[in-house]
Amino acid sequence: MSKDIFVFAEQRDGKLQNVSYELIGEAASLAQDLGQKVVAVLLGDKVKQYGDELIKFGADEVIVVEAPILKEYMTEPYAKALTAVIRDRNPEIFLIGATSIGRDLAPRISARIKTGLTADCTALCIDPDTKLLMMTRPAFGGNLMAIIRCKDHRPQMATVRPGVMQPMEKDLSRTGKVERFQVKFDDRDINIEILEIVKKTKTAADITAAKCLVSGGRGIGNKEYFGELRELAELLDGEISSSRAAVDAGWMDKERQVGQTGKTVRPELYLACGISGAIQHVAGMENSNTVIAINKSETAPIFGVSDLGIVGDLRAIIPRLKEAVKKAKN
Ligand code: FAD
Repeated sequence: MSKDIFVFAEQRDGKLQNVSYELIGEAASLAQDLGQKVVAVLLGDKVKQYGDELIKFGADEVIVVEAPILKEYMTEPYAKALTAVIRDRNPEIFLIGATSIGRDLAPRISARIKTGLTADCTALCIDPDTKLLMMTRPAFGGNLMAIIRCKDHRPQMATVRPGVMQPMEKDLSRTGKVERFQVKFDDRDINIEILEIVKKTKTAADITAAKCLVSGGRGIGNKEYFGELRELAELLDGEISSSRAAVDAGWMDKERQVGQTGKTVRPELYLACGISGAIQHVAGMENSNTVIAINKSETAPIFGVSDLGIVGDLRAIIPRLKEAVKKAKN
């Protein structure tokens, strides 16, 4: 009999990732509907001490697999450890953050366990009649929300995007069991060698604090054009930001994404360049003081939330705008 909702508690360098708390919070609400427990699974080297933190944020129980081989993330040992835990405990549901690690790990586990996996979910709920997990994820480029269920196999597995679910408030009075689970590793589990770990240096800018944001979308055409937008932003003492399409295309860092799954911003001026104004984008910028949009399509929804709309090719308009700002500043 499968039971309980398991959550992969992702940690990096001993720091529990926010998505772990978010998933535990979500699991706690699903667990209530099922009358089951939330079990967090924590992997790493000397990480047991973090188990208590997971309890305070909503886990009822924590399973810890500790081994030197788990110190840095490597696909094979992590997949082996989680597969072993699942085989032993037979969870009803298993949730993993859709981070780079989670996206690598989840399909390997689901294939080994021979169950289904719904990737990149944005909502989860329990069907009151069947008690099945209803997993919602965008489909067809986000134009449709598909609800997927996994009737015949266990666990019902999903990855969930970071930032979508709400963590629970930390409750210092919560207590629960933190137990070790033994997994035997051998040399065959190491199929890669980590030569060097290069940490990405964070761009310090916090777009939520910027007074002016020059935001680019798919309509700017390529990554390089953000250089033009940056120059305009600098003239306006602002920062650059983007739609998700630009992030997905690899043109912009995720931390500068505005919208439902990005940041919510309220600058004095939001200049939307080549952004259509999808509802998920508007959700993150509609409370800006003044919105100016440049779009070549006069029917673009962004104009519906703009104080000023400029219909035309942004590649012709941005240089003129830059000149005008320069002139005004002199
Ligand atoms: P497009 O929709 O492709 O729009 C490009 C626009 O550029 C068009 O309007 C076009 O007319 C215009 N254009 C093209 N060339 C030019 C030119 N030369 N000059 C002027 N205009 C031009 N999106 C977000 O932004 N943030 C989110 O947080 C977010 N979260 C999401 C969460 C979920 C669950 C889902 C399903 C989707 C989410 N999305 C989010 C995606 C969102 O639905 C849209 O797909 C995305 O916002 C589109 O980005 P865009 O406007 O840059 O691209």
